[in-house]
Amino acid sequence: MDKSASAMKKILEYICERYNRLVSEGVSELEELAIGTTVKRMDPSMIEEINQGRTNPLKPASIERTLRGFKKQGYLEPIPTDSALFIPTDKAFAEAGIERAKGVGAMLSRKPFDVPRDKVHKNVECRVCLIVDGYLPEENECRHCGALLLELDVL
Ligand SMILES: [Zn+2]
Repeated sequence: MDKSASAMKKILEYICERYNRLVSEGVSELEELAIGTTVKRMDPSMIEEINQGRTNPLKPASIERTLRGFKKQGYLEPIPTDSALFIPTDKAFAEAGIERAKGVGAMLSRKPFDVPRDKVHKNVECRVCLIVDGYLPEENECRHCGALLLELDVL
């Protein structure tokens, strides 16, 4: 792969990773997930992030050129509500070798043990193996040795 092709691939990876990062942060509005592709509509932080770690920073105009190429190749598609804003297509994710993060659906299929940190849970010291761990009110068995946990041992 020549130098400019690998620079392009990096930008494509960046766009897919940015999309995934926002989805994982809970963003679901297409307008917020999408990017502007012209110098005028481009988010300055995007230009900054694309240039992170580059010894010779890309000019916004050349990023615009690259993004225009992505549109032609079917890596970017406009969102329905604003034809000047684009999100990466499945083809872009495939090319970048990145799996598209799922939105709300993925959050719903979380494992039951994957409880949010802020849910009420208490630290209990197991009187058999003496390991302290965090437990939800409905849990009553030591995660490490299986012994019964007693309310008494809540720290
Ligand atoms: Zn135990």
